Amino acid sequence: MQLEADQNLIVYFNGQYMRLGEAKVGILTHALHYGTGVFEGIRAHWNDAQKQLFVLRPMEHYERWKRNCGIMRIGVPLSPEQLTEITLELMRRNRMETNVYVRPLAYKCAERVGVVPDDQDAFAIVALPFGEYLHAANGLHAGISSWRRIDDNAIPARAKICGAYVNSALASDEARSSGFDEAILLNQDGHVAEGATCNLFMVRDRRLITPPVHDNVLEGITRNCVMQLARREMRLDVVERSIDRSELFVCDEAFFTGTAVGIGPVVRINHRRVGDGAIGPVTRGIQHLYADAVHGRLRDYRDWLRPAYDV
Ligand code: PMP
Repeated sequence: MQLEADQNLIVYFNGQYMRLGEAKVGILTHALHYGTGVFEGIRAHWNDAQKQLFVLRPMEHYERWKRNCGIMRIGVPLSPEQLTEITLELMRRNRMETNVYVRPLAYKCAERVGVVPDDQDAFAIVALPFGEYLHAANGLHAGISSWRRIDDNAIPARAKICGAYVNSALASDEARSSGFDEAILLNQDGHVAEGATCNLFMVRDRRLITPPVHDNVLEGITRNCVMQLARREMRLDVVERSIDRSELFVCDEAFFTGTAVGIGPVVRINHRRVGDGAIGPVTRGIQHLYADAVHGRLRDYRDWLRPAYDV
């Protein structure tokens, strides 16, 4: 993701609000060498008609973050509610009136050489104005990666562990240099897992199908939003089951989901058209519902949102 980083942006680091340019770590920091950190990605959407910035499901993101920090035995000394408050305060201090991407990062901060982690932990939260992540308006071209998705018994894929993103970086680099927009990774069994930075859904006969978390995919929050919207608003059957690689070539529609990409229609996979090669009706329906929900235009989903500014 290429986001502008203004050095004067106010960030939260080591328990204080400060300028991004002042928030530095030393080069011997444990996480920098060994990947011993856990991060999050949270989005806020600007609603211009209401002059309001809506943060999407921050409590779920911070609950996931704290749970996943537990896998790495990294302590975050604040509650999801306190972390949400800091996030809203960052938006207010930076007077943000645009779409925003929030990046919380907790990490092993000891400055010394040696893999064995100790109990020195730190965390930061940065809220950045959000540029477009993937140019998905006309649909994306995905490539099946030669890299396999990491296995739960090596590095858990369900969590956003820093070191795990070596796998995503290798796959993204391969995909981009082969002319694709995004990679699709297979897991160790050869089943479809997910994109390098997003979950994957396919549509077959008006059924929405996505791999179960046991197939080594991230426990995506956008994935969960889509499952709810599809079931409740579109009355679709939503099935979590393993997906064969060849099903990608016979499905009617496919799309990625993620905090950064939102709903990213996939119109070609390995140069083959998905369905008729255009963005399909189920994907369009989900895109519209998701956009309405995250901008606060659907009353039934207002409990997903936390407004940054007084109403
Ligand atoms: N899979 C991977 C590997 C990711 O990095 C992301 C982005 N967090 C996702 C899926 C989507 O998860 P979410 O919808 O919670 O952003």
